[in-house]
Amino acid sequence: MIKDVPERSDFDGIGNALLNQAWGDLISLLANLEAAKNWLAESGDEEGADEADEEAYWASAATKLSTALAIAHQAAEFYIKGRIVEVSPFLLLANGVRDWPRADSDGHTSFSKLRTVDAQDLVRLHDRCASAPMGDAFKRQLEDLRVQRNAIMHTVNKEIVLSSNDLIRTILGIHRNLVGGSWLAFRRSSLENSGDRKLYSDAEGWLEENLIEEFQVVQPMLSVAEVQAVFELPAGQRRYFCPNCSWDTFDGHGQMVCSATLRPNVPDGATVWCPLCDKAQPVERRDCQKMECLGNVITFEWDRCLTCGGRQEHCED
Ligand SMILES: [Zn+2]
Ligand SMILES: [Zn+2]
Repeated sequence: MIKDVPERSDFDGIGNALLNQAWGDLISLLANLEAAKNWLAESGDEEGADEADEEAYWASAATKLSTALAIAHQAAEFYIKGRIVEVSPFLLLANGVRDWPRADSDGHTSFSKLRTVDAQDLVRLHDRCASAPMGDAFKRQLEDLRVQRNAIMHTVNKEIVLSSNDLIRTILGIHRNLVGGSWLAFRRSSLENSGDRKLYSDAEGWLEENLIEEFQVVQPMLSVAEVQAVFELPAGQRRYFCPNCSWDTFDGHGQMVCSATLRPNVPDGATVWCPLCDKAQPVERRDCQKMECLGNVITFEWDRCLTCGGRQEHCED
């Protein structure tokens, strides 16, 4: 018999690990790029970075971006294989029985020893056997990804210019089309189960800090509709600083986190909610004390205006 026959959950598990790895690599690359750009701008011509340093930096960034793309593509392949396996694992076999390898010493054959279909046939195979085919736009995206990945893996083509913008959308597209559900929940669960999490198990707010960093890096690169889809922030609603994220979790990073909206969204709404920390905070509706600010959403706990971040003074009674 054929033994060690894989199940969908086997492929999904590896797909999840790979997609999260590609995303994590991309985020740290973007965060480092931002820091490097600031440093290069500040250091000017006098000292610090010379042209060769800068060129070497961008070359190394391009390599990391290519690697993240290849990992994302592999994740997509695993998810697609998982869906095919759900119909029947034997659909994945490429060869007829006469080309199968010799049986193991126990007389059985391990599934992993059998040749499986080529990557370029996976999408076609999926669409022929799965209950619902993939959308045309996503199929085109996958095909572009496969071609790019092959170009990276098999040649050293200096012409290939990858954009981090494209890669973000690719990773999010793979999640939307092949995993589904909430992206934040997907990331939370991955961070929760990561090796780093075990290392920092005592560090309060570690997980949220990571999510906030991702939000800060990625959000400016997305459209309002994409921010709504990915970070669950309603489009068309005014955004406020999240008091928890800004002055508790992320305090000390020198940045405030604009990730909260009024809930309910009515003129006298008395609570703000943030999807990153998933916390609601009561707010007071009174005018901000800063002259130039028109905000009127003030946090009790931190005495701050959630529009400008300005501290609110109390009169001594
Ligand atoms: Zn928050
Ligand atoms: Zn204000």
